[in-house]
Amino acid sequence: MTEKIPVKIVQPVKIHQPKQADHNNHYTPRSHIYVRAVKGALDNFRRFFGLVFLGLFVILPWLQFNGQQAVLFNIGEQRFTIFSLTLWPQDLTLLAWILIVAAYALFFVTTFAGRVWCGFMCPQTTWTFIFIWIEEAIEGTRNKRIKLDQRPMNFDKFLRKLVKHGLWLLVALLTALIFVGYFTPIDALFIDFFTFNSTFWVTSSTLFFALCTYGNAGWMREIMCTHICPYARFQSAMFDKDTLTVAYDAARGESRGPRPRKMDAETRAGKSIGDCVDCNLCVLVCPTGIDIRNGLQYECIDCGKCVDACNDTMDKMRYPRGLIKFTSERQLAGGKSNIFRPKLVGYAAVLLIMSGLLVVELFSRVPLAVDIIRDRNTLYRETNEGLIENVYTLKIMNKSQFTETYEVSITGLTSPQITGQTRIKVNGGEVLTLPISVAVDAYSLEEAVTDIRFKIQATSVENIDVSAVEPSKFLYK
Ligand code: SF4
Ligand code: SF4
Repeated sequence: MTEKIPVKIVQPVKIHQPKQADHNNHYTPRSHIYVRAVKGALDNFRRFFGLVFLGLFVILPWLQFNGQQAVLFNIGEQRFTIFSLTLWPQDLTLLAWILIVAAYALFFVTTFAGRVWCGFMCPQTTWTFIFIWIEEAIEGTRNKRIKLDQRPMNFDKFLRKLVKHGLWLLVALLTALIFVGYFTPIDALFIDFFTFNSTFWVTSSTLFFALCTYGNAGWMREIMCTHICPYARFQSAMFDKDTLTVAYDAARGESRGPRPRKMDAETRAGKSIGDCVDCNLCVLVCPTGIDIRNGLQYECIDCGKCVDACNDTMDKMRYPRGLIKFTSERQLAGGKSNIFRPKLVGYAAVLLIMSGLLVVELFSRVPLAVDIIRDRNTLYRETNEGLIENVYTLKIMNKSQFTETYEVSITGLTSPQITGQTRIKVNGGEVLTLPISVAVDAYSLEEAVTDIRFKIQATSVENIDVSAVEPSKFLYK
């Protein structure tokens, strides 16, 4: 054992940490984050996604389908309409399936690509960036905004603040109106709201959501993501070593520091200088105000702004891109990410099964529901003709969007005589109450209680396979 292990001098890694005094004080006032604008591939990608989702959000409630609002969650009438699909409280299982599928889709995406939902699709992020964009258009770049806030109030500052908050409030109000338009007919909503004719609930919900949008996107911003949103708290439970997240390659970047642009790779290697020039751009563009070089942090929403900023710096320095990039812990350690890992495959399998069941449930859904209520006051009665008669109330719900005529028939009795309408027209979305009495010859009844079935059959050619069969009892003695 005479061989000695060679000693390698490693430069200490400089980690940016908050000041200890601030770190221990949970009541330190929040410092306002002045986000610097950045351009790059990921920012373009987010803008594209943002525009698509924003466009869908704005356009969807204005679409008409079969002469009515295509997407309308009418809570008052307990009816959710999504194009040709109408969901009733009886369809709660379907709604539960949809929510389960959405939850598993989120689990799958988070395990695979971290918090991309937060960074690219979440309404909080989208609206915050819209508000920041307005702020920048009115008050100028990051440095100008800082200077403006430090200046004492004068006419120019007052005007800029007034226009900015006015535009924020306008965007917030339009957002709230469109959002409420998913729950109440949107064309009437806009007219009624601006002519002060909308109901108390519509007005108060619109103002409430407008205030929430203004407060969240204008004032609270990153606080929503770092302190309020529960998803930020539990998403780390879905992370593993192969999850893609925005990360800084410390092995390549450290030791960081400024250097002449012309310094060649050999000189840098000799002085153990890494690729990070400590330009601080990755921190200045971060909407949550963190330094990604400190490692994975729960505040990071994976928006990729620091990736774009750093790539820009790398281009200027003529270094390879990707000092900050979407990568996994395993890749950073020099390994290869494993896509087919049990957790991800498990989520994918459950997602596929749930989606399949949802499709089956959707396609096997019958747009008709029937409830049979026996008259509880009299078990049975004898008619003048000596027949035994039972009385029922049928509740027929036409769950489609079109008027349909249904035919009522009974099985389980010999030659039943039905008093009441057996052919009935029900409007789309209507619940019709139909009282009928059924009479039979006493000699045909073998038991005191006979199991019978009501069949309600749609009669139109296109719905000939739509029917509902409901069991009931026929009582005698
Ligand atoms: S660290 Fe980068 S990816 Fe994370 S929130 Fe900040 S800018 Fe976005
Ligand atoms: S942007 Fe890149 S080079 Fe500049 S400080 Fe951040 S990691 Fe270093």
